[in-house]
Amino acid sequence: MVKKRKTKSNKKLIGGIVTALCIIGIVLMFALGSEGDFISNLQQIWTNTIDGAGEWQPVDRDAQSLAALESNGDKLIIYAIDTGNSDCILVRTPEGHSMLVDAADSDDIRNISGTLQALEIEKLDAAVATHPDADHIGSMGKVVAEFTPSVIYMPNFEKDTSAYTSMINAIQENNVEQVLVTAPYEFTLGSLHALALNPQPREYESANDASIVLLLTYGQNKVLLTGDIETEALADIMANYPDLLDVDVLKIAHHGSARSTTQDFLDATTPDIAIINAGEGNDYGHPHRETTALLNENQIVTLRTDQDGDIAIFIDKTDISYAIENAA
Ligand SMILES: [Zn+2]
Repeated sequence: MVKKRKTKSNKKLIGGIVTALCIIGIVLMFALGSEGDFISNLQQIWTNTIDGAGEWQPVDRDAQSLAALESNGDKLIIYAIDTGNSDCILVRTPEGHSMLVDAADSDDIRNISGTLQALEIEKLDAAVATHPDADHIGSMGKVVAEFTPSVIYMPNFEKDTSAYTSMINAIQENNVEQVLVTAPYEFTLGSLHALALNPQPREYESANDASIVLLLTYGQNKVLLTGDIETEALADIMANYPDLLDVDVLKIAHHGSARSTTQDFLDATTPDIAIINAGEGNDYGHPHRETTALLNENQIVTLRTDQDGDIAIFIDKTDISYAIENAA
């Protein structure tokens, strides 16, 4: 126990310094970009990092230029698209596989579609509908029709809404493989390993607690995507998977609502970076003050789509860096 804590604390210190250096480099790079165009800068990195997995090179920890990033084609990219108070996260493996986790609200399709097109994605390798609420599957029917994922993962939780019906119709019309996920469920996407830690094999009253929670592992780094889980699912996951929760990047559940993050959960997950998907000035007051205060107290670098815009996190086998749209 003591040894583990020490290792973690050293890891955190070194990780913090490395992350800070990388962050300064990448944020500077984006801030000083000729057009200030987040997507076009990202598109260059996106294209140039594909197919580098077989040509592993040590990471230039003081990367100060795009050229330094381009030479390291081994990055997993987690890209939180700013779609307001909804979730839409694109995951790209170093081999060029693309997985979309949630598809925001019904009026977000132009944003999602435009982003995927800018990144030259014509077909998704996988889609995940974490749970059937409208702010997660609102545009999933249209995404399925336009980008025909090879497979779509969803919980066994139906909802009588037009968003759910149009998603199911699009899946059937386009012959997309549909997998109903119950934890533990694992799959791979290139060199990325994914393990679903939720939903548990039981019934749920709340769609939020039935969310698929994905633990993504790439090299030594781990990312936890949590959908909209709340108190019940948090407790289930901590009880059932206590040894798997130590991660580097945590997508804060349920847009940063007060019931979706606890000190216990942060103690279990120990993230260096937290992502919050929230809309500027949203009616729910997301993220709630309790959550942002907790993240602050725990000294976790917190990136929020309501303030930072689009967020891209670059993960190689050892290090993590990030860029935000509103860096200036
Ligand atoms: Zn939501």
